[in-house]
Amino acid sequence: MTGRPTHGVRGLARAVSRGPTRALTRAAVAGAVLAGAVLVSGCDTSDAGAAAPSGAVATAKSPAALAPLALDPANGRSDPVADPVYPQHGNPAVDVLVYDLDLSWDPDARQLSGQATLTIRATERINKVTLDFSGALHANTVTVDGAPAAAQQAAENITVPLPHALATDDQVKVAISYRGSPKAASAPMVRADIEQVGLIVEPDGSAFALQEPYGAFTWYPVNDQPSDEALYDVSVTVPDGWAAVSGGDPQPVADAAGGGHTYRYLNGQPVASYLVAFGIGRYRHTVAAGPHGLPMHFWYLPAEADAIRRQIPRMAEMISWLEQRFGPYPFRTAGLMTIPQPTGMETQTMITLSPGFPDEVLVHELAHQWFGDAVTPGTWRDMWLNEGWAMYAQALWEDEFGSGSGDGPVPLARTLAEWLRVDGELRAEHGPPADYHPGHFGSANVYYCPGLMLHEIRRQVGDREFFALARDWIQTNRDTTQDRASFTAFVNKHTRRDLTPLINAWLDSPTTPATTG
Ligand SMILES: [Zn+2]
Repeated sequence: MTGRPTHGVRGLARAVSRGPTRALTRAAVAGAVLAGAVLVSGCDTSDAGAAAPSGAVATAKSPAALAPLALDPANGRSDPVADPVYPQHGNPAVDVLVYDLDLSWDPDARQLSGQATLTIRATERINKVTLDFSGALHANTVTVDGAPAAAQQAAENITVPLPHALATDDQVKVAISYRGSPKAASAPMVRADIEQVGLIVEPDGSAFALQEPYGAFTWYPVNDQPSDEALYDVSVTVPDGWAAVSGGDPQPVADAAGGGHTYRYLNGQPVASYLVAFGIGRYRHTVAAGPHGLPMHFWYLPAEADAIRRQIPRMAEMISWLEQRFGPYPFRTAGLMTIPQPTGMETQTMITLSPGFPDEVLVHELAHQWFGDAVTPGTWRDMWLNEGWAMYAQALWEDEFGSGSGDGPVPLARTLAEWLRVDGELRAEHGPPADYHPGHFGSANVYYCPGLMLHEIRRQVGDREFFALARDWIQTNRDTTQDRASFTAFVNKHTRRDLTPLINAWLDSPTTPATTG
């Protein structure tokens, strides 16, 4: 999520006083080999979200053509665990390998219908499959390997009995057709920018998902816990003039048999449910080339076109800047879809963001593609593993270029001093970063306190070792979930030191640990 969880850090967001104005110019991106994004298609027509036209390439620099993607269920294999913070979500007895969602959205009725087919691996002996699923959605027909099953729905889950028990590693296909008017859920947060999680439906019939730490269950049956990453094949049919957006490789837009169009997205790298992008709106679509031809997809409303055009080269610069520090961008595509809510979310390959966002938010969500998306915390106890790194990357960017508000660079020392000033207050109000109050999800304690910890590690081991460690952590663990134990072990092995006491102090202490700076 965006690193501006302002509640509880009164005035912090803008309290870091700014240095002299220095406009970001290409020359100011010192030494960066910048791709210089090239616009290859803009669909500012009434045909909302139409597939990118071919032959409109402005220069030789164009997005790389992606090889066709076939989903290999083996790549969706995970080791699900029970969540210690939100145990009411997720089921460690099942490992969903692939979600095949075939959905339709009626903007007038604000109704979702369709079928979810889940390829599931048993992680232990089971005779039923229980998934998170909103009571606002009604399951019509349920089958197990094609045979009808008598599923039962409770408030926020669905239980499907199996015709015979599965042994560990046995697989089964559960298909659930359903219909309903999606209803978002209360967010376990005290931050000001997010009140609800799940699919949020706007009065005009548009809809978008914000689902951290959970909430995907408000629009499809899901093992809604981050340790169960899976592959996705998402198809959504919408009426003419509407477009549907998700992450991964977009497939050609098809005419739907009953009218309208079907948008389809394939995600062949594992995705945690909280990172699945989903939006329906009267979007326009633009594709541009990022670094080394990385396809960057932008979905936005017509009134946001100018703002998005300005952001396209900036996004390419940021990805290039991040690659220099943390290694290659970890996915086949990048992108951004706009939402009307003033917040941001690092949905995998397709960032979910309000228009008019400052650069600091964009670079934060892009940093999450490495820290959180490519390497995902297995439980919400380790939220700090996402936000500590994303905040630190954001602070490094602001040190060079500022927040994008025109106030100029913010020296890292000044940012760290401000974080340190509020660290004790955040621990007292929300809990230590690794033991936060469950009702205070995503508060500033899991952003600034672990950001300070990372800087302490950097002080101990030096710049060269610190950035090698950061890069290797990602590139070694891409497409996996990790946790505190594996992070600590990785740090100690990489640095040939025992930094366990330092890490424990910064994650667990109810008061601010001593700093060496
Ligand atoms: Zn974040």
